Amino acid sequence: MGKNEMLVSFLGTLFSPAGKRGALSILIFHRVLARPDPIFPDEPDAQRFDALLSWIGEAFNVMPLDRAVAALVEGRLPARAAAITFDDGYADNYTVALPILQKHRMNATFFVATDFLDGGRMWNDTVIEAVRGYEGETLDLTHLGLGRFEIRTPEERRNAIQSLLPAIKYLPAVERSAQVTAIGEVTRRPLPDDLMMTSDQLRALRAAGMVIGGHTCSHPILARIDDDAAYREIADGKQRLEHILSEPVSLFAFPNGKPGKDYEAKHVRMVRDAGYRAAVSTSVGAARRDTDVFQLPRFTPWDRTSLRFGLRLVDNMRVRGSSPHEGAAHHLPSRGGGAALAVSSTAARAAVPLSDGSDGMTCHYYAANSMLAWRQSGGDWADAAGARSEDHPMRSRWFRPPRHCRGSSSTSRRWPTIGRSARRPRCPLPPRSPGRQIGHRQFSEPRARERHGAS
Ligand SMILES: [Zn+2]
Repeated sequence: MGKNEMLVSFLGTLFSPAGKRGALSILIFHRVLARPDPIFPDEPDAQRFDALLSWIGEAFNVMPLDRAVAALVEGRLPARAAAITFDDGYADNYTVALPILQKHRMNATFFVATDFLDGGRMWNDTVIEAVRGYEGETLDLTHLGLGRFEIRTPEERRNAIQSLLPAIKYLPAVERSAQVTAIGEVTRRPLPDDLMMTSDQLRALRAAGMVIGGHTCSHPILARIDDDAAYREIADGKQRLEHILSEPVSLFAFPNGKPGKDYEAKHVRMVRDAGYRAAVSTSVGAARRDTDVFQLPRFTPWDRTSLRFGLRLVDNMRVRGSSPHEGAAHHLPSRGGGAALAVSSTAARAAVPLSDGSDGMTCHYYAANSMLAWRQSGGDWADAAGARSEDHPMRSRWFRPPRHCRGSSSTSRRWPTIGRSARRPRCPLPPRSPGRQIGHRQFSEPRARERHGAS
């Protein structure tokens, strides 16, 4: 284990110890591409997924989600417990992700929308593939009220896709489908019919020991359809999977998954009534013993270094997933807001990831940042603190070592403290983005990587 993994493990154990105070970090993926996509360079490909699993395997204890949920409820999670999930049922989950999971001896849970099995395609992929394949330099969709796009480079194609998808995502299903069809008529390109798994691939995934969960039939935004239709989507999807797999299916993932926006409290009851045992959302955070098992939060960092990836996962353990019963303000995606680990210019020489100070209050990074700065400055605490004092007026006094590290001469040398204040002062900076008050600190939700299209 490298130094970075040791640091992440150490901090992870502080925030996610074994037993009743344990936290379950559930990671969410969609696709794992065989090779990088020039239009979506951030989508994980095989090589990057392999690296991610190495990092996760070094610092976390990955469990099958069904067993992890049981352990969470019973208060017997291991330290740094994690589960891996995939949404939607892409064929590359079987062809690309499965062999990599097997190489790392890891289990994952795959939430499958049944309408797209055996040759189907999700609406967002129709848009993506239509724009990808269009041979013109300008895509004119003004007659659809969607605008006109230059699409000469992969970046321009990505920008066009990223304008189109949000514009039609929340339309009523019939209207959305009409718009998608109309876009396809403009681009006139043959579209792939092998993006999603076949029933045989799904059975093979299960036979390889992976867990399969429900994700409705047609992937509707439940909050936008009537109650009867919502229940049928939830229950029929379960039944179809059970028919294919010849066994009960007990886990569910809410399509899109933002509490209060994509599903409501009544949909949580429907999932329970349909016979599911637990469900996951896309609210960020880690699950604790008192988290609703029908709304377990999920989060995947998009960072490209193991240290930042690990620290962001640790940070995410401090956030509790929101539920539809809470106020709606928290649930809106904090695009452009939320916490971010960015390299501060004043600390760049030590390459210390810091909250950027302008992007919500992120005092909860401070312990991790302080240790990191100290370590990266070669153990010179004054230098480390000095490098960052301009970034945050309270930083040099903020961090105190955990109680069990104080006292002994060896640990007090390794865990130096600046200042003697035992009480942590209130942070003087006002919160900026939708944050939540936990104790005396303002937390912003870590920004999840925006997914292009359906979730
Ligand atoms: Zn989905």
